[in-house]
Amino acid sequence: MQQIKNYINGQLVAPKAGKYIDNYNPATGEVYSHIPDSDEQDVEQAVQGALAAFPAWASTSAAKRGQLLMRIADLIDKYQDRLAEAESVDNGKPLKLAKAVDIPRASSNMRFYGTAIQHFASEAHYMEGTEAINYTVRHPHGVAGCISPWNLPLYLFTWKIAPALAAGNCVVAKPSEVTPMTASLLSELCMEAGLPAGVLNIVHGYGYKVGAAIVAHPNVPVLSFTGGTNTGRSIAATAAPMFKKLSLELGGKNPNIIFADCDFNNALHTSIQSSFANQGQICLCGSRIFIERPLYEQFKQAFVDKVQNVTVGDPMEDGTKMGAVVSEQHMQKVLSYIELARQEGGSILTGGQQVHLSGRCAKGWFIAPTVIEGLSPECRTNTEEIFGPVVTLTPFDTDEEVIQYANCTDYGLSATIWTKDLSRAHRVAHQVRSGIVWINTWLLRDLRTPFGGMKNSGVGREGGFEALRFFTEPQNICVKL
Ligand code: NAD
Repeated sequence: MQQIKNYINGQLVAPKAGKYIDNYNPATGEVYSHIPDSDEQDVEQAVQGALAAFPAWASTSAAKRGQLLMRIADLIDKYQDRLAEAESVDNGKPLKLAKAVDIPRASSNMRFYGTAIQHFASEAHYMEGTEAINYTVRHPHGVAGCISPWNLPLYLFTWKIAPALAAGNCVVAKPSEVTPMTASLLSELCMEAGLPAGVLNIVHGYGYKVGAAIVAHPNVPVLSFTGGTNTGRSIAATAAPMFKKLSLELGGKNPNIIFADCDFNNALHTSIQSSFANQGQICLCGSRIFIERPLYEQFKQAFVDKVQNVTVGDPMEDGTKMGAVVSEQHMQKVLSYIELARQEGGSILTGGQQVHLSGRCAKGWFIAPTVIEGLSPECRTNTEEIFGPVVTLTPFDTDEEVIQYANCTDYGLSATIWTKDLSRAHRVAHQVRSGIVWINTWLLRDLRTPFGGMKNSGVGREGGFEALRFFTEPQNICVKL
């Protein structure tokens, strides 16, 4: 059985304690590889490697650093089929989705920051009357810690390490222990691309061991984390007294607001995607669908009909729209929320249970796409993140009412608004407390835009120059002429 290795100081190495964790294929429920159960000794080795590599990497020209990132991007493209298959097997997502979204986006991330760093200019401020000039130098911090989740494994992993490396930091990164495979393949691509030893280090293992050791390490002054809000809270509690620079991309409970005057077919079709893409395991999925009352019954009927035609199946098969959820534990969590919805008085319009497939997927972890109505916007089902193929439908009568519904959770990651009345769309968008609002679309991403959440959905923004600013420390130098 395949045994994944850590990537430390340019080498593929076994964990020092020699311990491993079982890695499951969620579509079959079977262990198919082992990943290092690393600990603080491995993190220490990785940090030392990164510290040693830092002076040379920080003084490498931006053009050269960019070229290396683009070489890695080219290799991601070259091996896209292998990477997509690995992502699908590890995560349970349809192979087609991994090929169309996850892997292309991983190479785009590398390419985007490989070029962006070459356009990242510093500022100068001339002081009239005083005859002085200020200029701002942006220094890389040193060793950056990057910790990512399981839902979009290589996509989110590269979204962090690309700007960190482009800005001249060395990185100690930890992918999710639930989906380590593509990060492990990336190690091999970095070696093939000729990335200098120690510039990027990838340490596999549990969050409470490896993640916590990276977060607490005194020589890791900057941390970029994507994952759950509770994990973010505990990371912030460790990092804040050490004055670490922190970027937190956390959970969401996103509203999908459908006005009666929307383009019905577009809203309907896209809402199927925004509800169930990646088995509903995208932080940006719109899990609370609010429908203006005159359209409620028509939308509900058409939506439920369409959901009943969403094929849940073997992720490797072409016709599969929804694959397996990521783990048995996660499946149980999602099913427990469906049970909670029943207890809270919700009616299950379709779905509501585990799906048992036959053949090689007989022991896999699949959930039917689930639609629920009849719940109050303030109940737990409607305010806590489920992160699975479960959405609720709720009617509304006025703009004020739906804005209040949209804002009544602790989260504020994204929102979607469907209407042909653009004045109304802008007015509502400005009042929804979400870091990202889509109008008449969903998941349309321009990598230059600030990405992140309000309220408990995060701290700081990724994307574009925001990430390069985060991964550098500004220093102002004032010269009297
Ligand atoms: P998680 O918080 O359990 O784990 C995320 C990562 O943190 C993993 O690598 C994990 O090993 C590590 N970790 C766990 N405990 C840690 C600790 N104490 N110290 C340091 N690291 C630790 O999240 P998950 O279940 O992997 O991912 C799902 C969550 O991620 C959802 O809440 C989802 O909304 C969120 N998410 C947010 C975004 C965003 O951009 N805002 C994107 C994707 C996913």
